[in-house]
Amino acid sequence: MSQSIAVIGTGYVGLVTGVCFAASGNAVECVDIDQEKVERFSRGETIIYEPGLDMLLERALRERRITFTTDLVGAVLRSRIIFLCLPTPPDEDGSADLSYILGASEEVGRVLANAPDAGYKVIVDKSTVPVGTATLVEERIRSTAPDADFDVVSNPEFLREGLAVDDFLRPERVVVGTDAERAAEVMRDLYEPFLRSGNPLYIVSVRSAEVAKYAANSFVAMRISFINEMANFCERVGADVDEVRVAIGSDSRIGPKYLFPGIGYGGSCFPKDVKAILHTADEHGVQLEVIRAVEEVNHRQADVFVGKITGHYNGALAGRRFAVWGLAFKANTDDTRESPAFRVIDRLLEQGAEVVAYDPEATTGARRTYGDRITYATDMYAALNGAAALVVATEWNEFRSPDFARIASALAEPLIFDGRNLYDSDDLQKRGFTYYSVGRVPVGAGIRSGE
Ligand code: NAD
Repeated sequence: MSQSIAVIGTGYVGLVTGVCFAASGNAVECVDIDQEKVERFSRGETIIYEPGLDMLLERALRERRITFTTDLVGAVLRSRIIFLCLPTPPDEDGSADLSYILGASEEVGRVLANAPDAGYKVIVDKSTVPVGTATLVEERIRSTAPDADFDVVSNPEFLREGLAVDDFLRPERVVVGTDAERAAEVMRDLYEPFLRSGNPLYIVSVRSAEVAKYAANSFVAMRISFINEMANFCERVGADVDEVRVAIGSDSRIGPKYLFPGIGYGGSCFPKDVKAILHTADEHGVQLEVIRAVEEVNHRQADVFVGKITGHYNGALAGRRFAVWGLAFKANTDDTRESPAFRVIDRLLEQGAEVVAYDPEATTGARRTYGDRITYATDMYAALNGAAALVVATEWNEFRSPDFARIASALAEPLIFDGRNLYDSDDLQKRGFTYYSVGRVPVGAGIRSGE
């Protein structure tokens, strides 16, 4: 059955949520405080780079299934289901900042208090929030609208940026946290079109749903830190982490995903969510030792990588120019939040190096951070001219099979520092490159002492 839905907060998650629910026939009103975003979305501009999203937005607008507005009151009044897709950024102490969520809850409470005939509402928390937040949301709404008819549900979002539309339309599972059968029924009905291939919808307790999101992100972050630690070990003992990765990844107890060594995880979720669960655990007097180690390994990983660059030049990076391929925190997104590429660039700049960067989608985000402290190339080869070496920081497909002869002739010497293991060491050695990667023994004639 078609539902009326309000989505409060139209960022990555909110926009994808709104557009995908509209695509399955619902009437969606997306609310944001950012007037410019509202106007651009209304014109069909997605702003973010997310494969498949433009087309779905355009169709939803054409079919009048989606609107964008700053009017929270109207959207709440007209909707049965109200999604909170608001930011939960880390506070200074690492805890999740709940001010957006609780502020919006108060607004919803005021709307419901003034509309005694508004009918039953399901308030859905889709943001990633610490355990216990749904209770706080309910209390905030009840404090102004004690008689309102509503349930608060936790419905954590597991989409991956770059694959967001696909993940949303074909979720591996949907998790709904609620004790209220009425809310569970609404949510089952809403998600039914997305689960026709038989993937499950789990109805669990609110607290379990809240914890599940942090557990999932911490676990994936753990795999990344695990393989990075293994990579550092492999380098020291003369093994090849990619061979080890393949060997262990084919074990069905382990599996191949998220076992790619690199320069550490980043993005808007893993770093903040790992911090937040550690903070919540501290508050409850619980030691999450594995997760704490995950974070520490991740912090070190960019340093380990830049250490190879510094080591190659015996510490003399000042005045050298480096071509950096990749600014986004991973491929297929323009998101640069907590990008490990930035950690690498920061360390190069700190040591007096110059950076010329290229990214197919993420230059705008980088400009916000670096302004004119680095130079931005308009194509990947232009970045190389006059650079001492190439540094690969994001695993974009277009970097995978480059014209190596062109790279060698543009650089001062044929030298690549590859933070994503995109290339074959033997192949690059044959082509005359000096090649440093992650968890593999460096190759080439130019390797200097001290390695
Ligand atoms: P975002 O920063 O991209 O978007 C948040 C949006 O909320 C912005 O457009 C902002 O203008 C708007 N906003 C702020 N205050 C508002 C208010 N009072 N009323 C209306 N709109 C308001 O955030 P995001 O990446 O979409 O993440 C949202 C939540 O989802 C976070 O908790 C995040 O951890 C979680 N999450 C994110 C992802 C992801 O890949 N980005 C995946 C799963 C879960």
